[in-house]
Amino acid sequence: MKYLIKGAKGIVTEQAATDIRIEAGIITEVGSELLIEKGEQLIDASQCVVYPGFVNTHHHLAQSILKGIPAGLNQSLGDWLASVPYQYWPKITPEIMYSAACLGFYDLIRSGVTTCADHHYLYHSKTPPELEAAVWQAAEDMGMRLVLCRGGATTKGTHKGLAKAGIEPESIDLMLRRLDDSYSQYHQNTDMPMRQLVVAPTSLIHSSPAEDLKLLSRFARENKLKMHSHLLEVEFDHQQSLAKYGKSAVDFAAECEWLGSDVWFAHLVQASEQDINTLSETKTGISHCPTSNCRLGSGIAPIIEMQKAGMPISIGVDGSASSESGSMLQELNLTWLIHRATNGAESTRLDKVLEWGTQNGASILGLDKIGKIEVGFAADIVLYDLNQVRYQGSHSILYAPILCGEPAEIKLSMINGNVVYKNEACLVDKESLIAKAQSSFRDLLTRVRG
Ligand SMILES: [Zn+2]
Repeated sequence: MKYLIKGAKGIVTEQAATDIRIEAGIITEVGSELLIEKGEQLIDASQCVVYPGFVNTHHHLAQSILKGIPAGLNQSLGDWLASVPYQYWPKITPEIMYSAACLGFYDLIRSGVTTCADHHYLYHSKTPPELEAAVWQAAEDMGMRLVLCRGGATTKGTHKGLAKAGIEPESIDLMLRRLDDSYSQYHQNTDMPMRQLVVAPTSLIHSSPAEDLKLLSRFARENKLKMHSHLLEVEFDHQQSLAKYGKSAVDFAAECEWLGSDVWFAHLVQASEQDINTLSETKTGISHCPTSNCRLGSGIAPIIEMQKAGMPISIGVDGSASSESGSMLQELNLTWLIHRATNGAESTRLDKVLEWGTQNGASILGLDKIGKIEVGFAADIVLYDLNQVRYQGSHSILYAPILCGEPAEIKLSMINGNVVYKNEACLVDKESLIAKAQSSFRDLLTRVRG
């Protein structure tokens, strides 16, 4: 399909422009007063500001069906893990996973996302391959650009919730074999892949011993895959690293060959000044997830210091069991606000936050032709409708969507040049999305109680 997006009030791009031409999923022209050409479909953007789609660098789609579990509402991370994900995830079937993934993608697309890195950790010794296939399939059906960060563990782990749930980890051989299968089946080695695989043991400190982590990093680097994990979300990670390995979590990551420009970690709330120096020297990135960190009382990641030190910074939503809005727009709005509370009003600028949420995220994921509205980039584009009541009275046109936050008012969203959202409708019929979600929800409860 060929499109001409015309007459925008503003476009987040490096030059002053009102129009964008798109052909075969790629932006071919950005300018003003472009003329419609034969075979092009016109998209009227006269009431809109146009953004590159947000790139969410940390999510857990399975949790889209685990929102607001009562036992976990007022718990911090350690207890919440036992009450919420550990108790429920072994009961998630491929059908439930598919429903959860579609729900998660809906929330993301509705809030301006076009690329999602999902940290999918539902693996154990007997996991059927269909559980992973369900996530890829949901992305295909919803039109989402998916980076599947393949989680899991090769050690039993010390957390009481894991043993209680009867979760048997994979052996490292099994994990590597399955990673290799997923790589051959799904990973695309192209400029603008719709499917990318990432090596991502669930938690660097807790999921695997150093020798397994080294094997995983070597597998990733031999296949040119990125690497991802949770790190230093809470002080407990730091203490455990000192107790188990006699060194800081970041020094442990260095020992396991888990630092570098091909690695990014979720959270890093407890990173010390020394950690930040090591992470920035090695160009290791962060996925900053402020809503989840607030919700679980974990703290605020020091991203202003990280930015000053030159670390690559991106933004993630995290799973909807600890970030119920599932909204990337909320994360950007909160990122803009929360650091001002502790660092002053000049510490986070809107243009910077937007950069973290788009091109920086894409660059951390290794997607060099995604995250910007520029000729030669993928047509991952979102039109916010300023003609809605929501945005009336805003003097700042270009930044109105981030400033005003939720609810987002999106006229149209496209991924890889395909329209995936228009007039509040996505590619999967909403009625069937809700029906499937409700039946999966009932099925999950029966399995957990049974
Ligand atoms: Zn997470």
